[in-house]
Amino acid sequence: MTNMSPPRAWVDVDLEAIAHNLDVARQALPDTELMPVIKAGAYGHGLEPVARRLDTDGIAFFGVANAGEARRLSQAGVRTKPFILGPTFPEEREEIVLNNWCVTISTVEEAEHFNRLAELYDKTFLVHMAVDTGMGREGFLPAQLAEAVPAIKAMRHIMVDGVMSHFPSADEDVPYTQNEIGLFTDCVQQLQQHFRLRYRHIAASAGELGYEIPVANLARPGLLLYGVGPMASIYDGILRPTLRLSSRVSLVRELPAGHGVAYGRTYITSQPTRVATIGIGYADGWPRSISGRGARVYINGHYCPMLGRVTMDQIMADVTHVPSVAPGDAVELIGPHIPITEVAEQAQTIVWTIFTGLGPRLPRIYS
Ligand SMILES: *Cc1c(COP(=O)(O)O)cnc(C)c1O
Repeated sequence: MTNMSPPRAWVDVDLEAIAHNLDVARQALPDTELMPVIKAGAYGHGLEPVARRLDTDGIAFFGVANAGEARRLSQAGVRTKPFILGPTFPEEREEIVLNNWCVTISTVEEAEHFNRLAELYDKTFLVHMAVDTGMGREGFLPAQLAEAVPAIKAMRHIMVDGVMSHFPSADEDVPYTQNEIGLFTDCVQQLQQHFRLRYRHIAASAGELGYEIPVANLARPGLLLYGVGPMASIYDGILRPTLRLSSRVSLVRELPAGHGVAYGRTYITSQPTRVATIGIGYADGWPRSISGRGARVYINGHYCPMLGRVTMDQIMADVTHVPSVAPGDAVELIGPHIPITEVAEQAQTIVWTIFTGLGPRLPRIYS
């Protein structure tokens, strides 16, 4: 295949590091089952490869965003049951019931629809009731439970197998979150009088590392699987980074003093400057908002300041101080010398958007 050009930018994924971070989550919560969250293509790492690596006994579910991701897991032969975290659309539900994928319900109408479908196929379909303890995104409000419970209990073909909620500010507001744990506990106790709740869950990564939640027996770690703790914790030094983002120098040129670099000419050379052009841009997920904020790349053992704005497919960096730099040289954008947390901070965003923004044009290389 000589018509294939080498990738200009790519992602190296360390599946063993993800497995290691899952073990860290396990050690943090020895009596809690885990639902590794692998939605959004396992936060940019690749849905199927990550699922296959973690598809071992002892995992309760894989957390996915929607039926499409659940289907991809089935097609990949993954055995662990997908748990669809977000609400489902009516036209997806027949496939969901037929495949026994796990869902949350937020209204009696949703429950009725699942019940009808399960009756049609003569099966019992397991659901988790979502309660909205503060996130405002899905679930029954606690005050609606008293009315919803008898209606759902009367449905012969669905079984409430769990209860879930989701913290809106576990990494920002400890007193609010502690209060919310109390509210969730009350909801669980109320529902337990009617249903055998095999699973009770509210914590994502921040909740898992930051709080004691005695009523919960399942946790949904996402970000921490990918090596970043959302809040300072004793696990910070133990979690391992899971990916590297690299590109290559495509061109090295000398620009005279007073020459602009990239759109808008926001950077003007103040002296003769060796400028490397690098084959990655915002179309790959290197954030445009990082322009002009002191971002750096790492080439041949040296940090090199990025110059001017990020363009769609290319960026420029000052390599005046690294005479060895030549076309073809590898460039680290995220990796051992440039943590993803630094990139997110400089881009004035959160780490989650950097991970999930890594585009489809970047081949993923697994080790
Ligand atoms: C995305 C998500 C998670 C994982 O969140 P992290 O902060 O990445 O650990 C857990 N639960 C739900 C409901 C989610 O939507």
